[in-house]
Amino acid sequence: MPGQRRTEITPPLLGVDTYLANVLDQVGPLPPIGLSLLDASGCVLAADIHAAHPLPSFDNSSMDGYAVIAADVAAATRQQPVRLRVVDDVPAGFVATESVQPGTAVRIMTGAPVPEGADAVVQVERTDGGERVVAIREPVPPGANIRRLGEDVLSGEVVLRAGTLLTERQIALLAALGHDSVQVHPRPRVVVLSTGSELVEPGGELRKGLIHDSNSFLLVAATLAAGAIAYRLPPLVDDEELVLTTLQDQLHRADLVLTTGGVSMGAYDPVKAALKTLGTFTFTKVAMNPGMPQGFGVLQDGSPRGLPVLTLPGNPVSAFVSFEAFGRPLIRTLQGRAQIHRPAVRALAACDFRSPAGKRQFARGRFTSTSPLAVEPVGGQGSHVLGGLALAECLIVVPEDVTEVSAGSPVTVWDLRT
Ligand code: AMP
Ligand code: MG
Repeated sequence: MPGQRRTEITPPLLGVDTYLANVLDQVGPLPPIGLSLLDASGCVLAADIHAAHPLPSFDNSSMDGYAVIAADVAAATRQQPVRLRVVDDVPAGFVATESVQPGTAVRIMTGAPVPEGADAVVQVERTDGGERVVAIREPVPPGANIRRLGEDVLSGEVVLRAGTLLTERQIALLAALGHDSVQVHPRPRVVVLSTGSELVEPGGELRKGLIHDSNSFLLVAATLAAGAIAYRLPPLVDDEELVLTTLQDQLHRADLVLTTGGVSMGAYDPVKAALKTLGTFTFTKVAMNPGMPQGFGVLQDGSPRGLPVLTLPGNPVSAFVSFEAFGRPLIRTLQGRAQIHRPAVRALAACDFRSPAGKRQFARGRFTSTSPLAVEPVGGQGSHVLGGLALAECLIVVPEDVTEVSAGSPVTVWDLRT
């Protein structure tokens, strides 16, 4: 890229993409369950849907007006309207008892079945609106204003494929086709657990050396926003045994656990210490900034799936960036989503800034203009700066080999507003 100084990646850190691939290799979409239609909104369809009936399921009027024989009104003009006897009146939800014969019409409302004998509907605005006799002021071609059986969906047609994300638009189609429930990959149940002897619940009193737990709130909110179900546990003191028993308690309740804290190189890092002994967890230094210490593994419970546990670093900005880089794609993989990453967009750097050598930087940024899209780092870039994080609108993703980004050069951005 122009305007960027590059160096080589520093071993022995593991690349972000390799680490993510290692994590995702160990999980797959949750097994399908039947959910009622509204509960299935936001989930991914697990089986193809065939239409049990056509749409529309009967010929019906697309206008309020009069069902007629088109040939009857071919000569109608404003000056010399054609008068037809109105033999019936059919609102939506009813069926006409009379058929349309030459010289007659049936008053009809939008969505009502077209009566036998009629081959067109004249809009009420093109008539005098008569109730016993109607004056038709304009001709209509045969077929006008009639929505034909099957013109939208044919009976038996595959309307939605397995793997489709159900949004309001697919939910509407399923409802129209009569489905009250549907087979989907469910929303993952994600348990969020903060660890650290310094942590106090918000609302609790802070003595010197203590801080309020913010990570679990961050991760619950982020998990919900990613489309999963989140449960927050109270923070744990740094105790290996307690970490292990608390995680084991979640085995049959959760599809994923997110922890924060206790995975770096300190003397009191109980998450790493506890899980390392199990043999199914890997703790790694990933070539990223912030968020270098990472861990992942599957807690085994004898079931084929086990319980995936993603252990994120404790610094709040690191926890957030790690969630974006690994947690969100992991949740979306469990959901069966095809699109697991935030869409990356291209923008221009609005100012010069530096980036650490050998690490992919996720700089917290804000947009300075929309056309062209331009961004600049916002707030302090330390991994503890929650004030700066709260101002961020995007993450500016700077490659491992770039150490200086100059104003005007192109950058990749994850838009956090979408
Ligand atoms: P750790 O990863 O446990 O070494 O923690 C790194 C830093 O993040 C320390 O300054 C911790 O106090 C802080 N930290 C850890 N957990 C949380 C949390 N849940 N909320 C806010 N800060 C935290
Ligand atoms: Mg700690």
